[in-house]
Amino acid sequence: MYNNFNIAKKQMTNKDFAFINQQAINAVKTLKKAEYDLIKVLQKVDEKKVYAYYGFRSLFQYSLSALHLTESQAYSYINVARKSQQCPALDEALKNKEISVSKLKQVIAQITPSNQTEWIDRVKTMSKRELENLVAKSNPHIRIPEQARMVAENLIHLQMPISENRFKKFQRVNELLCQKTNKVIKMQDIVEQLCDFYIEKNDPLKKAERAEKRIKRKPNRITLQNKAKPIVASQTNRAAIPSSIQNQVYLRDQGCCQFLDATGKKCRERRWLDYHHVIPVKKGGEHSLKNLTLLCRGHHRSLHFIT
Ligand SMILES: [Zn+2]
Ligand SMILES: [Zn+2]
Repeated sequence: MYNNFNIAKKQMTNKDFAFINQQAINAVKTLKKAEYDLIKVLQKVDEKKVYAYYGFRSLFQYSLSALHLTESQAYSYINVARKSQQCPALDEALKNKEISVSKLKQVIAQITPSNQTEWIDRVKTMSKRELENLVAKSNPHIRIPEQARMVAENLIHLQMPISENRFKKFQRVNELLCQKTNKVIKMQDIVEQLCDFYIEKNDPLKKAERAEKRIKRKPNRITLQNKAKPIVASQTNRAAIPSSIQNQVYLRDQGCCQFLDATGKKCRERRWLDYHHVIPVKKGGEHSLKNLTLLCRGHHRSLHFIT
C-alpha cells in the first residue's frame, strides 16, 4: 500500500529532498532578514517623522495606508521596532535571525532593558503557546470585560474572562458530552447543554408547564389541585403560597413583571420576581390565582411604598 509520502519518494532522490529542505530553510532566513530590514527602516521613519512628511498622523497610520500592512502586522512591527531600540540584545537577536517577530510579539510588552536576555532565551526555546501561558501568569490582574456583541445575523460573539478552575469544570462537561454523544463538541454546544439543563431544572415557568401537562394527563388531579380552596393566610402564621397556585400565576403572567406604567406599557422584567397580593394578606387577601400577580422587586417595593 502506498501513501502520498511513498509515491513522492518514488519520484525523488535523497538529493532532491535535501535541496527542497534547504530552500525552505533559506526562505525562512530571507523572511527574517526582510523583517529585520523592515524594523530598521521603521525606526528611521519614526525617528525622522517621515510619516508626518507624507501627511499621516502616526507611524501606525502610515504603516496601514502607505505600506499596506495589516493592523496586526503594523502593531507588531512598530512595537518590536521601538522596543529593540531600547534593548540592544533584542536588536542583535533579530539581526542574527535567532528569533522571529511572530513569536516575539507575544511577549514584547513584557521585555525591558533589564530582562531582555531572559526573554530572548525564552522566545528561542519555548513554543508560542508556552509563551502565551507565561505572559498570562505574569499578568494576574488583567481585566477582560464581559461582552456579548452581535457580529452577524443570528450570531453573537461572547467574551468573558474565566478562572482556570472554572474552565476545568467546563472541560469536564466537554469530556462527558463527547463520551455521551461520540462526537466532537464545540464550546457553544456545551453552553447550550448547560443552559438547557439549568432551565429544565430551575425555571418556574418550565415547572408550571410540566405541572399543567401532568394535570391534563391525569384529570382526577385537577379537582384536587385547581379546586383546592384558596388559602387565607392568618396574620400571625402566614402560610406559603401552594405550589399549584404559584405555577398557575407563573403561567398566566408568563414569568414577567405585570406592572403597567402611566402609558399602559408593561414592565416585562423577568428577573427578581415576587408574588404580590392584590388584596393584602392582612386585609384578608387570599393565596389565589385571582389575587396574585408577578411583580419585579423594584415595582413591588414601589407599590407597597405608595399604598
Ligand atoms: Zn406585594
Ligand atoms: Zn417591574
